[in-house]
Amino acid sequence: MSQQVSILRTKLDSAIKGRKQLEHAYKVQVDYLTQFIAKLSLVCKGLDLELDNRLAKYRSTIQKGVDYEQLVPLLEEISKLFKEQATRAETNLKALHQSVDSAGRKLQRQKGLPDDLRRNLRILLTSDLENVKATNEFIPVLTRLVEIYHAVLEKKHQADGGDAIVESTELAQELQNLLSELAFEGESGKRIDSIKQKVSQEFSLSVLLDCCVEIIRIIVETISQERASAQKFLFAINETLSLLQASLMESVKRSSQINSQMEDLNAQIQHKMHTISQDVDEAQNITTLKQLISEKMESLTVDLANKEKLEQQEREELVTTLKEMGERVNKLEKETEQYQERLAEQRFKSLQDSLTQLPNRAAFDERFALEYNTFKRDHHDLCIVVADIDHFKAINDNYGHSAGDKTLQVVAKALKKAIRVTDFIARFGGEEFVLIMPHSKLEQISVPLEKLRRSVKAIPFKFKQKAVTITISFGATQLKEGDSMQEAFDRADEALYQAKNSGRDRIVLKN
Ligand code: GH3
Ligand code: MG
Ligand code: MG
Repeated sequence: MSQQVSILRTKLDSAIKGRKQLEHAYKVQVDYLTQFIAKLSLVCKGLDLELDNRLAKYRSTIQKGVDYEQLVPLLEEISKLFKEQATRAETNLKALHQSVDSAGRKLQRQKGLPDDLRRNLRILLTSDLENVKATNEFIPVLTRLVEIYHAVLEKKHQADGGDAIVESTELAQELQNLLSELAFEGESGKRIDSIKQKVSQEFSLSVLLDCCVEIIRIIVETISQERASAQKFLFAINETLSLLQASLMESVKRSSQINSQMEDLNAQIQHKMHTISQDVDEAQNITTLKQLISEKMESLTVDLANKEKLEQQEREELVTTLKEMGERVNKLEKETEQYQERLAEQRFKSLQDSLTQLPNRAAFDERFALEYNTFKRDHHDLCIVVADIDHFKAINDNYGHSAGDKTLQVVAKALKKAIRVTDFIARFGGEEFVLIMPHSKLEQISVPLEKLRRSVKAIPFKFKQKAVTITISFGATQLKEGDSMQEAFDRADEALYQAKNSGRDRIVLKN
């Protein structure tokens, strides 16, 4: 009998352990999904504002903690969101078509349009644009381009131009301005550069017309490439999401089946326990009691073994689901990586500040998101620093705006030269800079920041024959567990505020 008791105890122990493992496995699954959604929302950032917001909401819901059963409807919602996003993209595309189409039609009706130009335009507005699955940001650029084109044509017409070359510096300047907003990578970048060259040297109306058409063509090509990858990506995400959803649903279903079997078993066990105590009360002598209890023990042991088998089965099934999900998330990760690479090549946006040649705010946002992502995963040390030139307004006021610009360039150059190779610096705006210092603890960055502070102070500025010393203040913080990007940034900003209030030309570290 004592042997039976010990078997029973072992079985009970292992049942409890099994339950714990199961709970752990559920937690792992919830964590998987949390990571997945965090990743998704970062990757999709910028694709669509609505999508950004909703994904951020899901992310915070999940981070607050959801039950395993709630994951399925959540995934369903996210999946639906992606489908809606595809539909919205279609609507945007239509808006672009309409806007460019109507501008183009007006142009085509224009008198005196040379045949080859008319043909170019027609091709552009029909076949080329058909391929465009556009993002909204191109609409204003394209609209402005068409307007410039229109104005050039009108001038040419007035000049009774034929082939006469008429100077038109103003329109060339307008086109040049528009060009300076277009930053393309790779082949498109080279083509845009050569147009910039052309427009800066030649003001003839026919050259301007050609340039307009060429720019529209480059934009259209770029958009269609970008959209093609975006669409492929969305498609892949949709597919992966459906698969994830299916395996989750299956596993929830199985787990509730097993749960009800388990409940039956538990009831059975409880019932047997109950009858044991009744038997004890009613037993007439020790021998029958012994026999009775021994029988019940045996049957209880069988029940517990069954229970353990069930839990084992549930665990194994969960492990399989987890493995599948892991593989799918990995696949998704690869797809998003590729997508990001393609996007980086094609994306229409400048990442460089034109005055200082430093990375600009958009570049910082991108980089910070990347570092933040890694921080969330690896928990490596990560510091962020905001720097602001002291009394910069006085430079503008006393020595003029272009002296101010020059100062910004020189300071930016000094900062760039003084940072460590692993650090990242960007012009955040105005006379403000931001630094990202990965793999550094807060107490380790005083030295490199002091170096930056001193190197700015040491620049021998001279305005109106007068030597001027320029200083800069820093506010720094290290990212903490649970920080959002905004919270960390705000803390660094508060530190900068303190540096300003306590006399400027200093570094304030804030934990
Ligand atoms: P503080 O020490 O408190 O930072 O004083 P501050 O004068 O530097 O700060 P404030 O924000 O009052 O003034 C910043 C000035 O920087 C105002 C703005 O005209 C000037 N500024 C911002 N961007 C540029 C720029 O690109 N070129 C020039 N020349 N000036 C700029
Ligand atoms: Mg300032
Ligand atoms: Mg400022």
